[in-house]
Amino acid sequence: MRAEYSSPTAMPKLLVVDDQPLFIQTMHEIFRDQYEIFMARNGEQALAQAGRLCPDLILLDLNMPDISGMEVCQRLKQNPALADIPVLFVTAEEDFESESLALEAGGADYITKPVNPAVVRARVRTHLTLKAQADQLRALAYLDGLTGVANRRYFDQHLDAEWARSQRHHMPLSLILLDIDFFKTYNDHLGHIAGDQCLKAVAGALQALPKRGHDFVARYGGEEFVVLLADCDLPCALRKAAALQEAVAQLAIQHPASTVSELVTISLGVASTVAGAAHTAGELLDAADRQLYAAKQAGRNRISPAADHAGTAGSTPP
Ligand SMILES: [Mg+2]
Repeated sequence: MRAEYSSPTAMPKLLVVDDQPLFIQTMHEIFRDQYEIFMARNGEQALAQAGRLCPDLILLDLNMPDISGMEVCQRLKQNPALADIPVLFVTAEEDFESESLALEAGGADYITKPVNPAVVRARVRTHLTLKAQADQLRALAYLDGLTGVANRRYFDQHLDAEWARSQRHHMPLSLILLDIDFFKTYNDHLGHIAGDQCLKAVAGALQALPKRGHDFVARYGGEEFVVLLADCDLPCALRKAAALQEAVAQLAIQHPASTVSELVTISLGVASTVAGAAHTAGELLDAADRQLYAAKQAGRNRISPAADHAGTAGSTPP
């Protein structure tokens, strides 16, 4: 599952993989007006290019001297970040067995050489359309419709993956759960349209903060957001929490009914693992939730950190 979806206006990226330069040249002639063309001359290059470019479609030669097209395809399908890219096999093999094996390996289509330009064009166009539609469905399924940040479903998957990754690499993982203070009264006073605008603005501010590679922002529910910070210990997470609090303050959205500020503010619960601690992702989430509750109880518009996700009582900064 990828976080980025291709923009419909960008020129689709095509990766052409073949050990014969002449074939790549032919594909280039056929497609250069419509697509951005990239090339690889062997399986190793193909995998490297795919990882770097995340192309929209791959035309893959079945027979190559190093890694076969079949194996390249299998490896692509095993990588969650690349598995959704349609692979069209192109080959001189015309037997049914090669064709069925290629399709079983995850190929979306099978085209025989010598290729007919009109046919290869039509098939590529069809698979790009299907890919764009699938990307849109994935975006609908994984992004929050109002704010455009990741939704709860995406977060749940992402948390499991990041948890496993942090355990594997013995890295700390931190989580910030935050919530807009007195959001219900904000809605009651200004109406739901203003409430929605406030949610969008806060989501935008959270998303706009400088990110390190694996920082992840999601709408957790209602007026609650979650920020997952990979390879980030508690001091690192507290710096991030302070920056989030400041970013929301900088929005300077008037709140007519808050008892802690004239502006919209947030409360933040922060939890962090100790590298290698053998607990669960659920415990980390629970610890952040308890700290969010503590921040609310302590008066809102503040950060409450837990030193360890096992649940030591949080202290509230002055
Ligand atoms: Mg070949």
